[in-house]
Amino acid sequence: MIPASFEYEVATDVAHAIQLLASSGGEAKVLAGGQSLIPLMKFRLAQPASLIDITRIAGLSGIRENGELQIGALIREADLEKNAIIRQRYPIIADTAAVVADPLVRNMATIGGNLAHADPANDHPATMLALRASVVAQGSKGERVIPIDDFFLDTFTTALRPDEILVEIRVPKPAARSGGAYLKLERKVGDFAIVGVAAVVRLDESGKIAAASIGLTNVGLTAIRARNAEEKLRGQAPDDKALAAAGAAAAAESQPVSDLRGPAEYKRDVVRVLTQRAIRKAVARAKGGN
Ligand SMILES: Cc1cc2nc3c(=O)[nH]c(=O)nc-3n(C[C@H](O)[C@H](O)[C@H](O)COP(=O)(O)OP(=O)(O)OC[C@H]3O[C@@H](n4cnc5c(N)ncnc54)[C@H](O)[C@@H]3O)c2cc1C
Repeated sequence: MIPASFEYEVATDVAHAIQLLASSGGEAKVLAGGQSLIPLMKFRLAQPASLIDITRIAGLSGIRENGELQIGALIREADLEKNAIIRQRYPIIADTAAVVADPLVRNMATIGGNLAHADPANDHPATMLALRASVVAQGSKGERVIPIDDFFLDTFTTALRPDEILVEIRVPKPAARSGGAYLKLERKVGDFAIVGVAAVVRLDESGKIAAASIGLTNVGLTAIRARNAEEKLRGQAPDDKALAAAGAAAAAESQPVSDLRGPAEYKRDVVRVLTQRAIRKAVARAKGGN
C-alpha cells in the first residue's frame, strides 16, 4: 500500500529536531530506520503529517564506555552486532541484535527506534530491562534520564514527551562475576518472538547468585520484568532446582495471549524453558565462559 501524503524534513542536529517536533503540534513523527514506522504508514495505521528524519544527525551513532556503556540511539542493529565492545563486554546485547528480524532490516533499524517504538514483540526492551539500563531523552525542556523501568508505559507508548527524542541508552558497567544472555524462540528466522527471555546474573564469591534480573519479550502489553523469578534466584546456588523454580515463577508472571504464534499456555511453557536456559547461559558467562 501507499502511505497517506506527508511532509518530509531533515533535522540537522538534535536542537533542530526538537524545534521541528515542538512546532508540529504533535502531528510529526521522528524517522530513524523506518523499519517499523514506514510499514505502519503503508498500512495507514499511522498517518503523521510530517516525518522528521534524524538519521543525518552527527554524534548519535557512537558506542563508548565512560564509567557506563553509552549507546547512541542511531546505532543500527548490524553495527551493534559486530561492535567489539558489545561482543566482548556485553554479549547479551549482541545476542539480541543478532536475532532482530533479518540482515536487511538490521542494516537499517536502530536501537533507539526499537525502544521508542515500544512494541512488546521487539527484542531490545527485555534486554534493557534485564541490564537495568536507562534512556536519555532530549526535548525543549532539556535532557532527562529515564530509568528503563519507567520507560515502557503501554503497547507502542513510552514516557517520551511529544517534543522529545531518545538520544542515548546507558547501561551500567558489568559487575565482577556477572553475565547475561538473550534467547528467543521464533517461528522462522526473521520473525518476531513467540517468546524471548533476557537474563542477567551476578554471582558472589562462593558462586551463588547474588542478584538476577530477567526481562520477557512478547508476553505482555509491554516487555516485562519477571520480578518473582528474580527473587527466587537471590542467594541460591545456580542448580537445576533453583533454575526450575525461577522458570516456573517467570511462566506464572508472564501474561501471554493466544494468537497466530500459539496458545497462551504454550507460550507460558516456552517462558518456563527459555528462562532456565537463559539463566544457565548467563551463569556460564559470569564464570568466564561464553
Ligand atoms: C520484516 C520485519 C521484521 C522485524 N522483526 C523484528 C524482530 O524480530 N525483533 C525486533 O525487535 N524488531 C523487529 N522488527 C522491527 C525493527 O527492528 C524496527 O526497525 C525497530 O523496531 C524500529 O527501529 P527503526 O530505527 O526502524 O525505527 P522507525 O521505524 O524509524 O521508528 C519507529 C518508531 O519509533 C520512533 N522513533 C525512532 N527513533 C526515535 C528516537 N531516536 N527518538 C524518538 N522516537 C523515535 C518513531 O517516531 C516511530 O514512532 C522488524 C521489522 C520488519 C520490517
